[in-house]
Amino acid sequence: MLRRAALNPERTALVFEERELLYSEFADRVRRQAQLLREAGVCVGDRVGYLGFNHPALLETLFAAQTLGAIFVPLNFRLTAEELTFIINDAGIHSLFVDDTLRPVLEPARDNLCCREFFASESEADGWRHLDSERDAAQPITSVVSVDQHDIAVIMYTSGTTGLPKGAMLTHGNLMWNNINASMAFGGTRDNVILTAAPLFHIGGLNVMTLHSFHLGSKLVLLRNFDAVQALENFERYQVTHMFGAPAMYLFMSQQPQFADTDLSSVETLICGAAPVPESLIELYGARGVSFCQGYGLTETAPFSAFLTPEFAVSKLGSAGQAPIFSDTRIVDPDNQPLPAGEKGEICLAGPNIMKGYWNRPDATASAIDSEGWFHSGDIGYLDEDGFLFICDRLKDMVISGGENVYPAEVEGVLYKHDAIAEVAVIGMPDEKWGEAVTAVVALHEGRSLTLEELRAFADPHLARYKLPLRLEIVDALPRNPAGKVLKFVLKEDMSG
Ligand code: ATP
Ligand code: MG
Repeated sequence: MLRRAALNPERTALVFEERELLYSEFADRVRRQAQLLREAGVCVGDRVGYLGFNHPALLETLFAAQTLGAIFVPLNFRLTAEELTFIINDAGIHSLFVDDTLRPVLEPARDNLCCREFFASESEADGWRHLDSERDAAQPITSVVSVDQHDIAVIMYTSGTTGLPKGAMLTHGNLMWNNINASMAFGGTRDNVILTAAPLFHIGGLNVMTLHSFHLGSKLVLLRNFDAVQALENFERYQVTHMFGAPAMYLFMSQQPQFADTDLSSVETLICGAAPVPESLIELYGARGVSFCQGYGLTETAPFSAFLTPEFAVSKLGSAGQAPIFSDTRIVDPDNQPLPAGEKGEICLAGPNIMKGYWNRPDATASAIDSEGWFHSGDIGYLDEDGFLFICDRLKDMVISGGENVYPAEVEGVLYKHDAIAEVAVIGMPDEKWGEAVTAVVALHEGRSLTLEELRAFADPHLARYKLPLRLEIVDALPRNPAGKVLKFVLKEDMSG
């Protein structure tokens, strides 16, 4: 980032709430914050945390920490004080930066935290140092600690979609190789305008496009959080060329009345990942002349592990695409033996983008990365004859009904085409006769109704009988994490409780 600022100081680095920061200004803020951190006692390898919504300060804290060779730890703002306490102490955070709006969440837990310094973002508060004024008063640091590509840059906690989050140790090399892979896949120049509305504490929000923007020297339009209407407005106002988002974000954008009239002509590609992309979404945007580049990845892989370019969107419909140039994919059986094309098994990934391991969890690391260096994703899928990856589902979400494997993502793809359905998640619920019953949890469009019989009749021509829902639950909305992923374990708990 500092090199970028030296190369194109007068270009806009970042737009946030209509305020533009040039690369030179951004770099100056980073150097001042680095000095502040150094005076606070942050040394090489120390952890620096940030709890907050998307904000330039999050990125400045990341770069300032890295200037000192320290490790950046972004924290999920949806977590409770108890969950945050676990993560902050697990990571051993030395200095913690907190968005003012989230200070009340953390305040009651402060005495239990290991941190030595607490900074609040804007307003003065007792016992909190004031980031804005202290940074502005600090001298810009001139020396930069040099790091090795195997040094840890970021500890990023996984989404917690399937349980307790784990801290993935991502090295400078992991982040960099991801960006090299992304450049090769999506192209990209400093004339790109990148919209980030996904949360920066997730790898998708942080490293698919956002850090990439600083490598390219392009303009980043940052939204505090995802708002469908605001996102659409920003597309027009800033002539956005690229955005990364989860399918749910694009779905919500398309459901706004403004969608039809929003000028999307500046868009080169929308990058969609983190969850399966329903076919109906591809068609909806396709009709507006906008194509998706779909991606597959995990926190542990920094994240970019497969991508499908628009030219294959039709011929390889449903695929997450091919491995990027400097990564590799294979499918294995439960004994870790590679499987031939067409056979389903666990997706394993390798390459310079694979994390160093889980922080403080040598046993979890050992079971995730095998002796040959393959990372086991916990996802089920297969490769076709041409090496295109098809993701079936998570091992943990697969439903076994009457002895048959049912992949919820496949069933959801069909049910999404029903015009009464706004959102759907398919889960397996314990069932005496079938072992597990395929259960559709559905949120309906306003004023619509739906019965199980209607749903089964609709899906019948498209799905084998054993995949048809045996139960239907209607809810107001699906529980999602900030990345837009449906929390199926919450649904299961709710339904069995
Ligand atoms: P946790 O590991 O804590 O349960 P998580 O796995 O959701 O949470 P992430 O690392 O953010 O945390 O997400 C990675 C997962 O997201 C993948 O393992 C996969 O299940 C899912 N995923 C990502 N991209 C796609 C995609 N294109 N299609 C289907 N699933 C995807
Ligand atoms: Mg995971």
